[in-house]
Amino acid sequence: MFSFFLPFFILACASSEATTENVRKTAKSSSATLALVNGVLIDGTGSYPMNDAVIVINENRIVSVGSRSQVSIPADTPVIDIHGATILPGFINTHVHGAYDRDALEEWAQNGVTTVRDLGIVGNNSNLTDLFGFRDEISQDSRYARLVVVGPMITVPGGYGSRYVTSPAHAKETTEFLLDVGADLIKIGIEDNLQGRRWQMLSYDEITAIVESAHARNVFVSAHISRSAHLELALQTGVDDVAHMIIDELSDDLISRMIEADMYWEPTLELWQCVSELHQLSWNTQAIDNLQRFSEAGGKVALGSDYGGYRCEFDLGMPMREIELMLRAGMSPLQIIVAGTKNAAHVCNLGDEIGTLESGKVADILVVAGNPLEDIQALEDVMMVIHNGEIIRE
Ligand SMILES: [Zn+2]
Repeated sequence: MFSFFLPFFILACASSEATTENVRKTAKSSSATLALVNGVLIDGTGSYPMNDAVIVINENRIVSVGSRSQVSIPADTPVIDIHGATILPGFINTHVHGAYDRDALEEWAQNGVTTVRDLGIVGNNSNLTDLFGFRDEISQDSRYARLVVVGPMITVPGGYGSRYVTSPAHAKETTEFLLDVGADLIKIGIEDNLQGRRWQMLSYDEITAIVESAHARNVFVSAHISRSAHLELALQTGVDDVAHMIIDELSDDLISRMIEADMYWEPTLELWQCVSELHQLSWNTQAIDNLQRFSEAGGKVALGSDYGGYRCEFDLGMPMREIELMLRAGMSPLQIIVAGTKNAAHVCNLGDEIGTLESGKVADILVVAGNPLEDIQALEDVMMVIHNGEIIRE
């Protein structure tokens, strides 16, 4: 049962208590599914990279991760030397549309985006049982990115969204219905005017009813918001994340209140860039400036591009345009990686399962040649993708 690595391991760090515990575990366990060795680990928590890293996977879970001297590899485990490549958590795009699509989900997964959050089906006629059934079906097949869904966006008749509610009681009932039939999260529209296009809007009482009934089931509520005035409403009602950076001026007061409320933000700069080019607007520069100030103040950002949300050519796969615009907003490559992994997992309500490379988490892993902290383009230099513990690209 003792592996080749064990004697080396004892010599390397015989004094540590944690080590002794690891050895005991190793002695008891049989072989694991796979170990990657000789990597540079960026685990998604925001920690600096670790050289000479090892990650051990058993079935669909990470069983241990750390430096070669800390991690023991069970006997008979297949070992892959990745020769100094960088090991990251699978990425998550937390703001996409039209993701009920096998080809798109396969393309995301192949490029290391192992989870996407669809923030609203288009139109009102889709059969939710079929859509959520599709989500369940593809979750059994590691070729496809994991799909996290809200179903339709809740609004009022004549409002921004596609599922209409007419009172606080109806709002509560609709939220509970969507969760009963299988929505992972709830999305609402808080919008009354974009460039002269007018909509009716959910009331304070209706939003409160939605948030309270979602929270009663430990489910987050994401809100479409484009302007500061509506951030006030989101703060007052306890919304969990904001699905677009706003495109008017963001006050310091709102920044600090959002941080205090632990409200997350998906910038969708790729969307604002495209919309601004199409309509000769400067929403992109305002959004970049807002993100810069929010991020510098310590606000939590989750990667989300609004793929499929407008008549634009969005990046499918790794959302590099979005990432480059986040860099332009002054975020560091390490902050962007956290936004695309740990923080993104949080807004998917999957923070305990995915988003970081820690023991016990699902093995969604992206291995890239080069160091994305030195050159973010390295994220596109994919060497290997592991999804649910299965190698789906190498
Ligand atoms: Zn959207």
